[in-house]
Amino acid sequence: MQTRVAPYGTAGWNEKVRIVEKIFSKKAGPPFLYNDVLFIVPSSRLRRTYGRLFLDIAERTQRTGAIVPPDIQTLSQLFQRLYRGLGGPALIDENSRLILFEGIVKELITATGGFGGQPDLLAPSLSTSVASMVEELSSSGVGPERLASTVAASESAGKRQVTLLVKAYERYERILADKGLVDPAGMLDALANRFDPAWLAGYRTVIIDGIHHASELQARVLRTIAAHADCTLFVDAASLDSIHRAGEYHPLRLVKELLANIGASGGVVSASADDDERFLADALFSDRSFDQVAKSAPGPDAFGRDLRLISAVNTREEVSWIASEVKRSLRNGTAPDSILVAFPSLDEYGPLMEEVFSDFGIPFNRALGRQLSSSPVATALISLLTASHEDFSGPSLLRVFSSPFLKFAQDRSLTPALDRFLRERRITGGKDRILYALKRHTSGEEGTDVLTAPLSDLAAALRSFSEPGPAALTIWMERLNTLTVWSGMAGRVGGIPGAFNINLQAYRKLEETLASLGRAGILFPEYQYSFSEWLFLLKKTFMHTRFQVPPEDEGGVQVLGMEESMGRAWAEIYVGGLIDGKFPQRLPQNIFLPEATLETLGVRTLENARLNSAYQFYRLLLAAPRVSLTWPAVVGDKPMVQSPFLSELTPLIRAKLLKPRSNERFSLSVRDSRSVPELAKAISRMKDIRGLESILAADQEGLAGIKSALELRPPDRSLPVVSPDQTEFSVTELDNYLRCPYDYYVKHRIRIAPLEEVTEDITALDRGSKVHAILKDFYEQWKGPVTAADREKARELLASLAQAGYGREADTFRNRREHAFFLNTMAERFLDAETALGRTAFRPVRLEWKIESFTLTLADGTAVELHGKIDRIDADQDGNFVVIDYKTGTYPEAREKLEQEIFQLPVYAVMALAVPHGSGTPLRKAVGLAYYDLSGRTADHCRDMVLYDKDALPVQPASKPNSSRKSPDDLAAILDLSMADAKNAIAGIRAGNFSSAPRDPKKCRFCVNEVLCGRTDEDEE
Ligand code: SF4
Repeated sequence: MQTRVAPYGTAGWNEKVRIVEKIFSKKAGPPFLYNDVLFIVPSSRLRRTYGRLFLDIAERTQRTGAIVPPDIQTLSQLFQRLYRGLGGPALIDENSRLILFEGIVKELITATGGFGGQPDLLAPSLSTSVASMVEELSSSGVGPERLASTVAASESAGKRQVTLLVKAYERYERILADKGLVDPAGMLDALANRFDPAWLAGYRTVIIDGIHHASELQARVLRTIAAHADCTLFVDAASLDSIHRAGEYHPLRLVKELLANIGASGGVVSASADDDERFLADALFSDRSFDQVAKSAPGPDAFGRDLRLISAVNTREEVSWIASEVKRSLRNGTAPDSILVAFPSLDEYGPLMEEVFSDFGIPFNRALGRQLSSSPVATALISLLTASHEDFSGPSLLRVFSSPFLKFAQDRSLTPALDRFLRERRITGGKDRILYALKRHTSGEEGTDVLTAPLSDLAAALRSFSEPGPAALTIWMERLNTLTVWSGMAGRVGGIPGAFNINLQAYRKLEETLASLGRAGILFPEYQYSFSEWLFLLKKTFMHTRFQVPPEDEGGVQVLGMEESMGRAWAEIYVGGLIDGKFPQRLPQNIFLPEATLETLGVRTLENARLNSAYQFYRLLLAAPRVSLTWPAVVGDKPMVQSPFLSELTPLIRAKLLKPRSNERFSLSVRDSRSVPELAKAISRMKDIRGLESILAADQEGLAGIKSALELRPPDRSLPVVSPDQTEFSVTELDNYLRCPYDYYVKHRIRIAPLEEVTEDITALDRGSKVHAILKDFYEQWKGPVTAADREKARELLASLAQAGYGREADTFRNRREHAFFLNTMAERFLDAETALGRTAFRPVRLEWKIESFTLTLADGTAVELHGKIDRIDADQDGNFVVIDYKTGTYPEAREKLEQEIFQLPVYAVMALAVPHGSGTPLRKAVGLAYYDLSGRTADHCRDMVLYDKDALPVQPASKPNSSRKSPDDLAAILDLSMADAKNAIAGIRAGNFSSAPRDPKKCRFCVNEVLCGRTDEDEE
């Protein structure tokens, strides 16, 4: 075998084209038969790329399209084809394999009573973990006997999960043999042992390209293929030496190992990398120090690559930045399909990317399969089953009635009628309850009953799913098929025009998946499932099944996953979403065996996953003259940290070859608008739109909408909506008013709130209330201080309260994550704070303390009432006290000067002092104001003493140590100033002053009222 090293990017691709042209040139005249050449590639995409290349070359060199092209196979296609020739046991498909593991794990657990004996409740993903672990072991050539003997000699012997793994693996192999099946590892093993060179005898030439890593078994088969008399292996690298030198942590280590495993020694350099590529290849992931690398860098003028590193304020602005740069390049004449946009997590970025690129008018082709579970078709089917599972809960019924793919789609009046009926009757769900209520009340506009018939129809269709007891998988799948026919889904999806429409593709995959589950049921009739187990299994299968939407045209900017972008020459590359945890993806630690044991078995899942990501990062950075790397500083409401790989760019930054930019965000001025939605936003913030008439009159989609919106003036809001004699106020509402009077007006007076997505996930607001309730209950049950000795007990109490609180929520991924976050982060931070508090004289003395009435006299002599709820007050025996607010999000920080943004805490302190203490601990002097930073977003420690009396308390943990320490006089003055602010706010509300005057104009950018309130860029500046 000959190994040819080709550089990344255009030079390397041109070299591969040259080799293909050479193959073509061997036929001087027709017939042009090239099916004696075999190409082996890693992905279908590279397969298509080569297919197109052959046709292009044939057109160009032979002036014909009439050729029999070379045989191009993906690695897995080739293995399966060769295996079919062997005539061994049938290959088990992925779904059947997972079903088999479900059954084995459940049997093993219920038989031993391990893990509580309820696998469906306790460990829903255990079987998937066992399946993955067995796959890892078998593809590394480790059979059940070797696993058992290694485990027996290790410290893991006897551990429950290890015993489960060993037994499951043994049983799995036995069942496969009994049923006459083989898994992918068994197939490769058979191929490696019985490979017959005659299988490849029909090929004159074999070319392998794009494969940079192979498992132990794959490498064994590849080694036999590589023994073909004329086999060429293409390897992408700046030089042969860079592969040989690759150290333990270098991305090219994978390539080095592959070459060693398939017996490819030596190699020739097919084309030379330029100086810039050679420098970059040496600089990234180098063993040398950053300074040494920086010193060896060329000067900025001599460096021909354009590298950019951008952090945007959030994901939308990150994608908008990419879109604007892509658009600029297209305008400058760059061919769309020579631009690559890649994301490590395209599933998450895909929908936003499609929206923004469409707004910008950029032609694009998004590849990579989509999750079946996210398609509206699969969602519709699951919503039907959820309606049965949740006994006709309101949200599940609304989802069924509003789906365009289900039986009730043609009657659009049903969803609003059902929604109204449930609200009016105050029914949240329950089939019998709803049907009973319908007997007594009408549901339609004209006093007719429009709901009974469709709901009864639905109840009858779902009846078989509420039959008690478990059933075999085939029975469940038959019931589901009957339900699918009843729903009429096939007809509705088929009626959508376009052969490649996304719903049709999803439906085809859905049919295929259900059929495959049906076959798995026939294969393993011995396993029984309850309805919830089966539903969970179905959802899980939809989640890991992907479907492709074949493009009608693969032109346009290429939006691909990282690995899919191999084998092409790119003019520009954009890689987005480079955040820690996502790239490289943070994988969970192996739950079965410690890494050291896995290492001895040759299983290196985590390490290989990391090296593979590093390889893609390294490759992409070298693959184009212009490469832009981006990451968002915030995703949703969570701050992000950049991918650790980005620190590889440090020497380039030090050598001034790359200048990172941060806080990228789109401009809100009209002249910088790059899409119609941006233009609409910019115009909405202008006071005067003169000069823009011709733009608005242009015949372009969206402009007419902006024009009519401008003509519609908002109603005059000078008239007070509130009656001037309001005399009761909450501290929270005054804080809102001080932040921005107009925002207060929208929220508290006209009570407009953004529509929330219908979701079973806990919202940010719910999370706050839940956490507050758990921490309150904790101190109601926990007596005395928390000490280091009883911390474990305190943790258990918090865990049981959290279980009660979070256990009531739907079992969604996000809710589980919230629960875990509470246990792992919030509860631990809270316990740290309480253990430290236990060493002081302060103890919690008030919890969720409601102060119903506190009288304030305004400047005009009017007396008003203030009320509020204080999360907690800690006090010592002398009555010195600290007011505490629990926070799961951000909070204002302390300032050096007396004027503070912190408002509620000082007002609460004054109110607390004024309330008679009765039998409770007396509160005599406010000595501190603290936030509990439960999520760890602001402070290192949980109890962040934002303002405190430095004479009364020793140095306290504070995120702004200097600003938080105040003299007693200053602290008293801050309390007074806050009360003055409270009075001003009340006077403002009573006077109907709801101006757009935010305390912090920077917050306007993220405010939902931005378009309504009339505030402009100029105001912000
Ligand atoms: S955009 Fe600014 S001024 Fe307008 S309502 Fe929001 S915070 Fe207030």
